[in-house]
Amino acid sequence: MSTVPEMFGSMVFDDRDMRSSLPADVYASLRETIDEGKELDISVANAVADAMKDWAVERGATHFTHWFQPLTGITAEKHDSFIDPSPDGGVIMQFSGKELIKGEPDASSFPSGGLRATFEARGYTAWDPTSYAFIKGNTLCIPTAFCSYSGHALDKKTPLLRSMEALSKQALRILRLFGNDTAKRVVSSVGPEQEYFLITKEMYDQRPDLRFTGRTLFGAKPPKGQELDDHYFGAIKPGVAAFMEDLNRELWKLGILAKTEHNEVAPAQHELAPIYTTTNIATDHNQLTMEIMQKVAARHGLVCLLHEKPFAGVNGSGKHNNWSIATDTGVNLLSPGDTPYENAQFLLFLCAVIKAVDDYQDLLRLSVATAGNDHRLGANEAPPAVVSMFLGDELNAVLTAIETDTPYEGTKKTVMKLGVDVLPKFNRDTTDRNRTSPFAFTGNKFEFRMLGSSNSIACANIMLNAAVAESLRIYADRLEAADDFEDALHDMIKKTIKDHRRIIFNGNGYDDEWIREATMKRGLSNYRTTADCMPHLLDEKNVAMLTGLGVFTVEELHSRRDIMLENYCKSVVIEANTMINMVHKRIAPAITRFTADLAKEMKEKKDVFPELECSYEKDIIGRLSGITDCIAKKCDELEKAVMKLSDASDILEESCLIRDSVLPKMAELRVPCDTAELLTAKSYWPFPTYGDILFSVR
Ligand code: ADP
Ligand code: MG
Repeated sequence: MSTVPEMFGSMVFDDRDMRSSLPADVYASLRETIDEGKELDISVANAVADAMKDWAVERGATHFTHWFQPLTGITAEKHDSFIDPSPDGGVIMQFSGKELIKGEPDASSFPSGGLRATFEARGYTAWDPTSYAFIKGNTLCIPTAFCSYSGHALDKKTPLLRSMEALSKQALRILRLFGNDTAKRVVSSVGPEQEYFLITKEMYDQRPDLRFTGRTLFGAKPPKGQELDDHYFGAIKPGVAAFMEDLNRELWKLGILAKTEHNEVAPAQHELAPIYTTTNIATDHNQLTMEIMQKVAARHGLVCLLHEKPFAGVNGSGKHNNWSIATDTGVNLLSPGDTPYENAQFLLFLCAVIKAVDDYQDLLRLSVATAGNDHRLGANEAPPAVVSMFLGDELNAVLTAIETDTPYEGTKKTVMKLGVDVLPKFNRDTTDRNRTSPFAFTGNKFEFRMLGSSNSIACANIMLNAAVAESLRIYADRLEAADDFEDALHDMIKKTIKDHRRIIFNGNGYDDEWIREATMKRGLSNYRTTADCMPHLLDEKNVAMLTGLGVFTVEELHSRRDIMLENYCKSVVIEANTMINMVHKRIAPAITRFTADLAKEMKEKKDVFPELECSYEKDIIGRLSGITDCIAKKCDELEKAVMKLSDASDILEESCLIRDSVLPKMAELRVPCDTAELLTAKSYWPFPTYGDILFSVR
């Protein structure tokens, strides 16, 4: 078996392979395309395609695919083989530059939100040379963007790349003002921490709700859940350890920097974190990671659940998006520097993020909105649906000193003048980190914690990059026009702190009191559901910002709002129908059978011992009969609520009906079913209970 360094990236056509297999001039011009976005000419593309094909064929690949990320949230691929007939009746393996650069999948069934008329439904894929090609199974996968022929983005990668471009452009303007003439690009990086559940396939197969919806729609609280906190960072069970080991190898082969793994709070819950990398690569890698997790789990007789809330009453799964921005020369712009000038620059970038998060809290909220994540945000485990920022005591004190022109205790006792005084070193104190904040500064990066475990990280980073680019654009406009740079800088930072103070909150984000303060006193928005937040994508200020920076077109925004709302409605309707089906086909018959048998046994007992009371049997039968009536009534109400959806005149109205009637009816139906589970003998209950599932992996 090969060593980790040998194995790492062995299935990726990375820089090492490019350098060794391409002629020097071809390599140099490809590097320019990757690093600086220069256009690639066809002769270079042909040479790259040929080398890529040889490399892939050597490793057993027979097919290639343009791998892309449509708006369904998962990845898509259509395989073509390399074979080309040769005159002698055989085949040769062929792959041209044209095939590398552009593909035309017959992808008319992907959601486009009305962007593609059916006559030009095909759309095309375009190579993203900044993300390396890799081999999965027998296929060379080429990361691509997916667009319509009219040029509108139909995927998540295109706007992500545009947002990175916008951020780079505006950040460079700021850097030039600070006298930096060397940086050519500014790049945002992300390290996404991925949570997931592992259960046995045996349990999974017996639960229609898990199979159809990814989460349990029924299930009473088990006698033991997460109350002992004995799972968090606990010893990893052998079955899980074997899975993790296998997973790491698969990820390493794909050049994914899987680094840490541990048990999470809930039983059967775990986390995997990679080392951070450039945002679009981190996005590709996270999509791959989620896919490989499921494949590897299957090899171990397990199922990996990526749903945000697979089990009620047990912590759900999220994804922490650790985000920072750095120059191509490797300077992290969110890291406080050693000189007064670097400090001022750091504070400016920090302020840009503060302003961005406050001005576009709605966009950040909706970038993580799905039916699944709605169960998490605002519940007692994840950040609330209110967006706020945590900066820590030290940084907060610095900002207060600047805002109020008062001495900062940490330095010499003078009023701090930006660009003159040196800031104190911010030591990253891991004990003092606020786990409840949706958006926390952690020393040299921000951790955006609202993402759901199954979310693509693209959307959150598009909004984050764009919002910060917008702050920087406004700053750069002002500073470039200023007579006295330092004065203008000082005033602007001061003003930002004053204007956006409301978004900074260092307390407990789970507290109800905070939600009251945030919404009533501070005027922060609290969009509890997808139906509440998604329409704000089209708010005037948001459209102006996103189109102004060239991240989205107006048409793309309309289509995305519709697609996200459609996804929301469709997933909930599937859940509702699954519930109705499970009640009729499984739950109700099971209860009936159990009570009938119980009555029969009671009668037999009474025949032999007429003096017996049989109060246990009578009580259970009585209670379960009452519960069955209640189930029938609630199920009927849910069916009617689903039927009423067809009255909705548009998707917005439908999403409101989902939120106001379907979801509440589902919750109401669940209650009597879960009570019945607790009263029904185990051998009669039609599927495994929470206790069975959560403690199934050994
Ligand atoms: P934890 O949050 O568990 O204490 P870390 O903060 O060290 O762990 O790392 C969490 C994630 O943040 C990892 O994926 C790590 O690579 C990533 N990370 C660390 N530094 C940066 C950075 N400058 N930019 C983006 N992500 C980063
Ligand atoms: Mg972290």
